[in-house]
Amino acid sequence: MRIEKHPRRAGSAYGGRPACDNLKVTKGQTVCAYHELMSEMSGTVLLAAPRGYCAGVERAVDAVERALAKHGTPVYVRKQIVHNLHVVRDLESKGAVFVDEETQVPEGAVVVLSAHGVAPSVYDNANDRGLEVIDATCPLVTKVHVEARRFAAHGRTIVLIGHEGHEEVEGTSGQAPERTILVQSPEQARSIEINDPDNLSYLTQTTLSVDETNEIVRILQERFPSIEGPPRDDICYATQNRQDAVKVIAPKSDVVLVIGSQNSSNSNRLAELSQELGTPAFLVDDESDVDPSWLEGAGTVGLTSGASAPDWLVHRMLAWLAERGFADVEEVTLTEERVRFSLPAGVREIPLAIDR
Ligand code: SF4
Repeated sequence: MRIEKHPRRAGSAYGGRPACDNLKVTKGQTVCAYHELMSEMSGTVLLAAPRGYCAGVERAVDAVERALAKHGTPVYVRKQIVHNLHVVRDLESKGAVFVDEETQVPEGAVVVLSAHGVAPSVYDNANDRGLEVIDATCPLVTKVHVEARRFAAHGRTIVLIGHEGHEEVEGTSGQAPERTILVQSPEQARSIEINDPDNLSYLTQTTLSVDETNEIVRILQERFPSIEGPPRDDICYATQNRQDAVKVIAPKSDVVLVIGSQNSSNSNRLAELSQELGTPAFLVDDESDVDPSWLEGAGTVGLTSGASAPDWLVHRMLAWLAERGFADVEEVTLTEERVRFSLPAGVREIPLAIDR
């Protein structure tokens, strides 16, 4: 009798079937449903495009690699440069040292600031320690910081729509902490009390759900008709495009896999969106997180990846799916992204000699 155990499941479910870990007797053998499923599955993969790396992530990862090429190891990085486990591990293996705060970096050392942006106090601390700072803040986050300072300079109260504890929200709030009020949900937008409602502005985190943010803004505009927003949406092009692509593939899929780390805001929004559209979705770091029972009975698997997930993870996932019968791949392209950002000061002149 052959008994095989189910592998541990590491991915998080957004409402799917529970993990398959029951042994069962089939044709006189005790087998795990995991292995039985693998031999039964077949179907198509709908691959979303755009997906994966955005211009801000590409630039931030480049900045760390060029800093390593210029300065050698170690190069310190404040927080995860982007919210992806594989990217962080890869950079660690090349000599990057990740720290939580700039105050942990040895005096005079090189530090790269993450794509999510920082409060002004971080630059002050870095200056005090004589650190050589390479600022990889995404230019689209810097744009929000500039808007926050402009609103604050005009004496306005800022409603910041975003998620508490996210590094980007900490950085944006830090531009005008005494004037910023965080709103995380439509419920909070309905109940928030404002002392000077005629002198009110709003800004948003760049990686939110487009639909939920629109709802929050609508509620704020109803309650505070003179509220002023940014000249252009703060939710970035990459977040918008990846959500638009999920809106197309999710209704045609039986299950959607989103490649991204658990702390990646934009990746979480993709999985939630699919779920809201009625298609079970799972956020996974890579193919080893996928429980084959999630694919049971599926004819079409939707696949996308968050803005901080490198495309080689998608290729690995496609190979894994092909081995299990999902060999037909249809790419659904909504739009071509041509956004590129120039590299941060301090590494612009450095050629990238390291293979990624
Ligand atoms: Fe910039 Fe948007 Fe990418 Fe964030 S998700 S790094 S804001 S382009």
